[in-house]
Amino acid sequence: MPEGDTIHKWARRLDAALTGHTVTRFELRRDPRGNRLPERGVTVTGVEARGKHLLVCFDDGAMLHTHMELHGRWDVYRRGQRWRHPAHTARAVIEIDDGTAAVCFNAPIAEVRRAARPGAPTRGSRALDALGPDLCDPDVDLDAIVPRAATTDGAPTVGDVLLDQRVAAGIGNVFKSEICWARRVHPFATWSSTDDASRRALYDTAHAMLVANLDTARRITFRDGLAVYGKAGRPCPRCRTPIAQAYGGDTDRTTFWCPTCQPEAEKD
Ligand SMILES: [Zn+2]
Repeated sequence: MPEGDTIHKWARRLDAALTGHTVTRFELRRDPRGNRLPERGVTVTGVEARGKHLLVCFDDGAMLHTHMELHGRWDVYRRGQRWRHPAHTARAVIEIDDGTAAVCFNAPIAEVRRAARPGAPTRGSRALDALGPDLCDPDVDLDAIVPRAATTDGAPTVGDVLLDQRVAAGIGNVFKSEICWARRVHPFATWSSTDDASRRALYDTAHAMLVANLDTARRITFRDGLAVYGKAGRPCPRCRTPIAQAYGGDTDRTTFWCPTCQPEAEKD
């Protein structure tokens, strides 16, 4: 399941392989927008990750916008190298002058966007434009994040707010559980039950975890792996209480926590 750290790693790999090169083939399947595609001969000007979105920009003003959700991924192949995933699951293929191909598989969003008029900035989707500060950016403005959560509708849980990419971009389901455990906050506690200091601490931890994982082959948040995610029934590394697991929240994905270290209601 790709989260911000993984998307940033893919973006750096694609940027190193593609930027400055001439496109010899560009294919896009099932693009709902139907904008003019980059043609043979255009140059890749940059690849960047923004939260869980990956963007490839071209010198003709086009921008390929992809979002990975749960199953999308980007691979880079040398000339003649066999693809690791079935060709029919490819959404986008970018081949360049040295025979390298970057292939995006299974992404639910893969579309070309263009500036409204020549010279104007290329606009992303509303989801992209509404993204909060990127927690994978080493220089992210952490002070700007907590105030953004004030606009979240309803009575969200801490887990809901951490996953809300409009508040801050980059946290997915794995980091959500790990961040809450690290800060001793129950993931299903309501956001309104937390104070500003613990909110800020959650995002400080999130930033540190995501940035620390930008250069690792395997995701590490505690000692040599994860503390609670995927470890239901196993002892909490801090207090030995069996880790709990639940489906719930808006995302309907599994959450893990320690019932002792992370009590549901704050003790007086
Ligand atoms: Zn514990």
